[in-house]
Amino acid sequence: MNTPRFEAQAPLDCLVIGGGLLGSAVAYYLAKAGATVRLVERSQLNSAASSQNAGSLHFQLEYRMIENGIAAANKAAEAMPLHLDAQNAWAGLETELGMPVGVVQHGGLMVAETPQQLAVLERKIALEQANGLDVEMLDAAQVQRRAPYLSEQILGAAFCAQEGKADPRRCVLAYAASAARLGARIDSGLGVVALNYESGAWRVQFSDGSECQASTLAITAGAWSGRVAAMAGISLPVSPVALTMTTTMRTQPLITHLIQHAGRRLSLKQTGDGQILIGGGWPARLHHHQGVHDLERRPELLMPSLTGNMSAALAVVPELKRVSILRVWTGTTALVADQLPLLGEVPKSRGLFIATGGSAFTLGPTYARLLAERILGQPATLDITPFDPRRFGSLTLA
Ligand SMILES: Cc1cc2nc3c(=O)[nH]c(=O)nc-3n(C[C@H](O)[C@H](O)[C@H](O)COP(=O)(O)OP(=O)(O)OC[C@H]3O[C@@H](n4cnc5c(N)ncnc54)[C@H](O)[C@@H]3O)c2cc1C
Repeated sequence: MNTPRFEAQAPLDCLVIGGGLLGSAVAYYLAKAGATVRLVERSQLNSAASSQNAGSLHFQLEYRMIENGIAAANKAAEAMPLHLDAQNAWAGLETELGMPVGVVQHGGLMVAETPQQLAVLERKIALEQANGLDVEMLDAAQVQRRAPYLSEQILGAAFCAQEGKADPRRCVLAYAASAARLGARIDSGLGVVALNYESGAWRVQFSDGSECQASTLAITAGAWSGRVAAMAGISLPVSPVALTMTTTMRTQPLITHLIQHAGRRLSLKQTGDGQILIGGGWPARLHHHQGVHDLERRPELLMPSLTGNMSAALAVVPELKRVSILRVWTGTTALVADQLPLLGEVPKSRGLFIATGGSAFTLGPTYARLLAERILGQPATLDITPFDPRRFGSLTLA
């Protein structure tokens, strides 16, 4: 019989489950505060959404947040304090970690091609300014002066000077290396398969048959977060969402800003090595197996998403017609039923914490620092009550 190997040691202060941006950053902030922390990743570090994303640092409300009217935009704006915090978190991240992660904050433009989109932008700017974001409206001439690579059809744009990009290939590894330097134990190729609360601590079983004990757990498992929570008997309204990304061949410096669109799904930026990354929320199709989403397979690419994304990109930056596509890929992220982040302690669960949902690359360093504060019982540097899992308390009956 295979008896589980149990490591008879004092319980860890925290076991962090999932080695994407959130997990590695939570492990870092916990280790920095002196906690005993272990991060486990069932595959390789940075092998899921945190490496597949667009690397956009967007602090304006995204198109998906404004496309469904003012009530939905107002709801999304509840997360604006996190956006404001994240602007500074990214600006200081390379100093904090002592290594480059490709942060460039040269500003972002959300463009409008029609009078209706301009009106949407005006309402959006008013809402954002009321929530403290430094954002301004540029007319067509100002847009051309600031970003001459944009189409002359652009009627105006919302400009936010703090927006930009970071390199998704570097951020997770930089956080994980810094956490390890501060004493965190990091295991990849080790999945959590069972969670049980016994005698005042979580008893965790791993895919290799070993076990450990931890006073608290941090679920940072992205699209798998609901499945990990279910191991503890908790139901959470976290859904996987499949998205599409495209990158071009390297080309000469062309695009200096983060570009988004007020009426179409589009995000555009040029990386430091000259490739142009094009995304913006175009769907891909999740596979299914026996009636449930199969999160082990890359989502299926949908051709209408690719052509729709390229046609939006060409309309905004006509020069792109001279640049060849190098690669197209799909990835899976996690969204919460009300589109807001899920950040804090799960009710009725005794030390089970979660961070997921929302724009968790842009807001990742902020989510992670705030979750670490909660886990450590430190005073909150920002009110995260609106994102508390308690709002779904009726679902967590464990
Ligand atoms: C195509 C695409 C584009 C995107 N663009 C942007 C963008 O421009 N800006 C933005 O803010 N956000 C963007 N996002 C979303 C962003 O990438 C994610 O919100 C963020 O990376 C989530 O990080 P994470 O650490 O929560 O999850 P992930 O990076 O998915 O990491 C979760 C990890 O948990 C591990 N895991 C799962 N189950 C277990 C288990 N049982 N035991 C141990 N480990 C486990 C997984 O293997 C995985 O490595 C995009 C997402 C996609 C897919």
